[in-house]
Amino acid sequence: MTSVSTKLEDLRWIPRPRLLALRRLGIETTEDLLTHFPRRYEDRTEFPQFPREETDAPICLCGEVIKTSLRRFGGWKKIFEATLEESQPNALSEPLVCRWFNLHYVQKMVATGQRIVVFGRPRLRGKRICMDHPEFEVIENDEEISIHFRRITPIYPATEGLSQRVLRGIIYRVLHEFPDGGWQSIAPASLVRGERLDAIRAIHFPESLEARDAAREHLVLSEFFAMQMLIASRRFESSTQPGQAHCGSGALLDKFLNALPFELTAAQRKVIAEIRRDLAANYPMNRLLQGDVGSGKTVVAIAAMLLVVDAGQQAAFMAPTQILAEQHYEVLRRWLDPLGVSLALRTAARQEESGPLRLFAVDDPQIIVGTHALLYESVSFSNLGLAVIDEQHKFGVAQRARLTAREPAPDVLVMTATPIPRTLTMTIYGDLDVSTIDEMPGNRGKIVTAVRDSSKLGEVLSFLRTQLEKGRQLYVIYPLIDESDKLDVKAAGVEYELWRERLQPFRCELLHGRIPASEKQQIMDRFRRGATHALISTTVLEVGIDVANATMMLIENAERFGLAQLHQLRGRIGRGEHTSYCILLSSSQAKEASAKLPVLERTTNGFEVAEADWELRGPGDVLGTAQSGLPALKIGDLKRDADMVRRARAAAISIFEMDPRLELPENQRFRRLIVEQQGQSFSHIS
Ligand code: ADP
Ligand code: MG
Repeated sequence: MTSVSTKLEDLRWIPRPRLLALRRLGIETTEDLLTHFPRRYEDRTEFPQFPREETDAPICLCGEVIKTSLRRFGGWKKIFEATLEESQPNALSEPLVCRWFNLHYVQKMVATGQRIVVFGRPRLRGKRICMDHPEFEVIENDEEISIHFRRITPIYPATEGLSQRVLRGIIYRVLHEFPDGGWQSIAPASLVRGERLDAIRAIHFPESLEARDAAREHLVLSEFFAMQMLIASRRFESSTQPGQAHCGSGALLDKFLNALPFELTAAQRKVIAEIRRDLAANYPMNRLLQGDVGSGKTVVAIAAMLLVVDAGQQAAFMAPTQILAEQHYEVLRRWLDPLGVSLALRTAARQEESGPLRLFAVDDPQIIVGTHALLYESVSFSNLGLAVIDEQHKFGVAQRARLTAREPAPDVLVMTATPIPRTLTMTIYGDLDVSTIDEMPGNRGKIVTAVRDSSKLGEVLSFLRTQLEKGRQLYVIYPLIDESDKLDVKAAGVEYELWRERLQPFRCELLHGRIPASEKQQIMDRFRRGATHALISTTVLEVGIDVANATMMLIENAERFGLAQLHQLRGRIGRGEHTSYCILLSSSQAKEASAKLPVLERTTNGFEVAEADWELRGPGDVLGTAQSGLPALKIGDLKRDADMVRRARAAAISIFEMDPRLELPENQRFRRLIVEQQGQSFSHIS
């Protein structure tokens, strides 16, 4: 008997080539097939009369082909036309001309005498009503009419090697053969109405549009519920895990704060208090600290580490790259050496070199700085009380799990400079408590952002020169797709030569990911000292680099970067008292730039950028599955269905509140649900 896990080949009636086409879509079981949801529907219960005018919305029409023709134009190009007439034409009806340009296969499929269904936008062309490149289906025989016509018909995401009607036919038959009651519900009855199988049937072949909407709601809620159960399980797992208090008296912290040359912002003080409360509690901390670039997260991290050191325990500070680890190490030394805190730098590359390691080696240091690789090395923390992880978006859930699996579990503070829309926070970081620094230190110069056409490079250059002459420094960023690609690295070299010419007599240097770490460090040192005036760089510059005198950034082909990344990059300037300038160069042909880039002219607030980015982006690509460690969504849309996310989340949390370890018999299906998803999501990561 067919069940959700039945392999499609075991059904024995799907021909091999179709099985292969399905497999290319990742569809192997009946569940895969039946959760391959329609992308839209056509109401074929009753077809409208042929239009006599243009319409803006596409419409679905049915007619008989009364004439076809093939014409050439412009030498080798071909245009295929099929003229349709309504099945019951009346005195007023106009024929419809469907046209396909250079689509060889259409001409093989459409012939005079056939009945076909077309979907497209009618346009007036001369005196004729035309539809260009409509989607179409040929009605082959009357038996099939009950599946494909006289109903609200599902249209699936296009698939090579599978026509709509073939795919629809397979889904129809599998649904038909599926035993009633053979599909257990995912979500509790308090959240969704009806049976899952009924919802699945109705999403493919709805009786009405209302039935379709109800089915969609059931399925979206179920999907969100599954996701929220996974998130809630992570959260409850850590909160029921025994932990230790990791908080000292605060004497060291006071010393540190008194020595600071500036006042903490109110936001920094609030966040330090939140962290302090967590450190003092005897359950493990799992906290996300979000704050725009330059908002002063490092000081907060230092404060947290000092509280832990004061309690006689170790703290680890992990950065995503070596260059950043080294830079953090320098910053931390400056602050902490005077306090007598012992510090060590551990990075993979440093350990290979024999000499320098000893330089950094300290017996049982109080604070260890390194890359995320610290996790995988057998670095022995004798007594780890707190792990601070900088730049969450490069650090997955699985890696975090690795940390908290230690016995006894350290407190974890994750820091990110990538603000995300508020509604997404609870989904992506739902297993973390979130602290937000929503205020910039007051001593910052303004950042002026301007989008310029690349043809205006000349004017831009003369502006940059006036600033260079005043002693300011410049970053030039250009997009480089693949830092491991030799060709790209060569292109970087060519680019660099160009800039050296352009900026004469100011001194430039080149920075990219393939430059060995020690050399990178020297390049950065020279730039920081002002020995070089301009840094021509790839996005290795993206995180953490802090040179107050660098007040200019020019980003080439800015349209190729995402808004969030541009905002990150821009955060490298505006760090001193002088006004900074961010110039986004893009070619006028780049259409997508026209909506995107002006957002950055309007605001320097990372949360506003994130919201706008989310608005501009299509649905679907927000989760970044690998980083969130969450399975991809098949039907729900976090933006459009935000309200259902909230309902699903509330349902998940109430289950865990009553039964944190999911021990009750009625909760066993939820436990299985989580285990299944863990299998799916964790396999994406490590
Ligand atoms: P980010 O949040 O991007 O990691 P940093 O912690 O690197 O930001 O801080 C950026 C700069 O601002 C550093 O030079 C830091 O010393 C300085 N800074 C941090 N907090 C304050 C403050 N309250 N007032 C003035 N400067 C501050
Ligand atoms: Mg930082």
